[in-house]
Amino acid sequence: MTSDTTQPNDRNNATGKLPPGMVLGPDGKPCKICTAFRNWKPAEGQQAQNRKQAQDAKAAAVMAAAASGTSSQARPDVRPENCPPDVEVLGRSTWVFLHTTAAYYPDKPSPTQRANMLNLLHALPVLYPCSHCASHLGEEMQVYPPDVSGRIPLSRWLCERHNEVNERLGKEKFDCAKTDERWKDGPSDGSCD
Ligand SMILES: Cc1cc2nc3c(=O)[nH]c(=O)nc-3n(C[C@H](O)[C@H](O)[C@H](O)COP(=O)(O)OP(=O)(O)OC[C@H]3O[C@@H](n4cnc5c(N)ncnc54)[C@H](O)[C@@H]3O)c2cc1C
Repeated sequence: MTSDTTQPNDRNNATGKLPPGMVLGPDGKPCKICTAFRNWKPAEGQQAQNRKQAQDAKAAAVMAAAASGTSSQARPDVRPENCPPDVEVLGRSTWVFLHTTAAYYPDKPSPTQRANMLNLLHALPVLYPCSHCASHLGEEMQVYPPDVSGRIPLSRWLCERHNEVNERLGKEKFDCAKTDERWKDGPSDGSCD
């Protein structure tokens, strides 16, 4: 277990210079992929530039619509789906991939399958784009090395690592007895069949 349970948000807030929830990257600058979209507040200069770009794009869209005789689209209230991911979208997608891959991992994996699974998991602390997420995971993996001996132990190991993140973020822990139901079989009432 990591000794540093401080959230990067707390660390950043301690400086009193960043908006709540904004996270710094290893280069000391605000880290977009480490920050939830709702907490991402570009600096004033950047905001002005973004506003100008948005206004220019809107004006161009109005002119194009007028020229083609169609009405212009209003700017959506919610973030369009084709925007780059924030820390939450990236996290959710990664968990879906990891839990599902574990759920379909063989009960008796071959040496090659074990080695590839280990490579996949060990790559995360090195390559995962959210740097503080990656380093927390790396610390966790040193204390709790991945168990790739079979589907069930791997799913449990992953569930426990996910629960560590849930706990750190103040979320409820997931019942690890339910990983197959959530990621493979679906509920017994058949609502997902
Ligand atoms: C390796 C990794 C490290 C991360 N570290 C951070 C971090 O340090 N700081 C940060 O802000 N965000 C981090 N994230 C993102 C964070 O975990 C969430 O993905 C994000 O906050 C969105 O949460 P969510 O509530 O949508 O559900 P998620 O936590 O993304 O979960 C998706 C779904 O998985 C299921 N689930 C939940 N817990 C478990 C479990 N234990 N086992 C099996 N299934 C489960 C639930 O059905 C849930 O709806 C990390 C993500 C990853 C992949």
